[in-house]
Amino acid sequence: MGDKLFIEKAYINGKFVETEQTFPVVNPATLTVLGNVADCTVTDCREAITAAEIAWYHWRDTAVGERCALVRRLFELINEHKKELAEIMTKECGKPYAESLVEVGYANSFMEWYAEEGKRAYGETIPSLKKGMHLSTIKQGVGVVAAITPWNFPLAMITRKVAPALVAGCTVVLKPASQTPFSAIALGKLAEMAGLPKGVLNIVTSKDSKGIGKELATNPKVRKISFTGSTPVGSTLIAQSADTVKRVSMELGGNAPFIVFEDADLDKAVQGAIAAKFRNAGQTCVAVNRFYVQEGIYDAFASKLVTAVEKLKVGDGMKSGVDIGPLINQDGLEKVRAHVADALEKGAILRRGGKQIKDLFFEPTVLTNVSTNSLIATEETFGPVCALFPFKKEEEAISLSNGTPFGLVAYFYSSNVYRCHRVAEQLEAGMIGINTGMVSNASAPFGGVKQSGVGREGATYGLEEYLEVKYLCYGG
Ligand code: NAP
Repeated sequence: MGDKLFIEKAYINGKFVETEQTFPVVNPATLTVLGNVADCTVTDCREAITAAEIAWYHWRDTAVGERCALVRRLFELINEHKKELAEIMTKECGKPYAESLVEVGYANSFMEWYAEEGKRAYGETIPSLKKGMHLSTIKQGVGVVAAITPWNFPLAMITRKVAPALVAGCTVVLKPASQTPFSAIALGKLAEMAGLPKGVLNIVTSKDSKGIGKELATNPKVRKISFTGSTPVGSTLIAQSADTVKRVSMELGGNAPFIVFEDADLDKAVQGAIAAKFRNAGQTCVAVNRFYVQEGIYDAFASKLVTAVEKLKVGDGMKSGVDIGPLINQDGLEKVRAHVADALEKGAILRRGGKQIKDLFFEPTVLTNVSTNSLIATEETFGPVCALFPFKKEEEAISLSNGTPFGLVAYFYSSNVYRCHRVAEQLEAGMIGINTGMVSNASAPFGGVKQSGVGREGATYGLEEYLEVKYLCYGG
């Protein structure tokens, strides 16, 4: 691993800092310690917030062209160091190296896109209803932003927040997941190399996620909190930030349905299913949790899916040809095991896989005839398990799909254009994949409805999340 970007320190006010305590980060594929990183305290976090506030007074007055040029420079540096970043990512979160390279590219697409879009934070002139008044709006950055991110996309979940925040004129205090701090710190190093002024981006690594989270959510200097992670933690942060009336963006848990209608192209549906289910060993917020397959093609789809799943190779993501890495930790493994056991107890048929291989590796699994009372039908599994449920009519598939408190993404396959439009309108989700298993794109709005979140990331919507509208009223 390149030495330059692998740093075991936090990054506060333009300095890489050590702390009295450190904590180990374990490679989930080898179960060996990858490194020991600074364990920041709440006091360190407060220091980072103050640094971000001081930096904000200058950063917000920097010409937008200059801010965008710095983000563009960061984009170029990420590109130059993509292999190093991908290696760090695979070693800390376990996803196969080829997939990490794809994530680095996806993460960097936010840098590229917002380095352009930042220049287009237009205000308006508004026709006045009253004589002698001239009305307009300008848009300005909200101020100090706190960002808390998960381990499953160690870089992309950061850049999706940091890129729009920086071009909008905000400064950032980032708390990355304790399992994956090294990708975040590497980004800090590249930001320093790009010439980002001190205090504009601060990275607080810590094992005390509760304490740091509470400080970020309650400190009055922080004007906005942007969180990606589980729904329970998201709702705690919303409650904690209520007293200081912060703006919030929440990208929370999912429980994606994937409907295959009888008029679908089955081979394409299987291809889409593999893409939507098995990335990062099924540990993505947009991973399919429930496959609803229409009766007439149920057996054919199940057989083709089993054949495709049989080809997936499980192993250490640094080895070539590996499609599926380990689960992130023992809790993750236990949850997958419990979901499979529960489905089997309730009558599901095991068509493929179903058990732990060794350590944190779990076999890619296909279950058919799963009962709608199973845990897997309502809870996010976060593992490499396909659960297939049969259905008869379109309305039934829609009602089953909408039957959870979540609404991040829904996928369906059909070759009937009328049905495509009708079903897309009725599914309760922020994003709909129609004849595709991949929806993420920097130029499109990413986000959920119901308990899957508040706000959108990516696209012009993702920039608005970091801007305040200021209304100017000229009299006389
Ligand atoms: P998580 O437990 O909620 O952790 C996410 C982040 O919050 C981590 O940095 C974590 O720190 C921190 N955290 C944990 N407890 C906290 C608390 N009480 N107060 C403040 N911060 C706290 O989620 P995860 O298990 O890492 O990630 C998986 C979840 O994220 C899934 O539900 C997935 O669907 C969701 N997700 C959503 C999206 C989206 O865009 N909608 C994208 C990716 C993932 P530590 O690591 O130190 O515990």
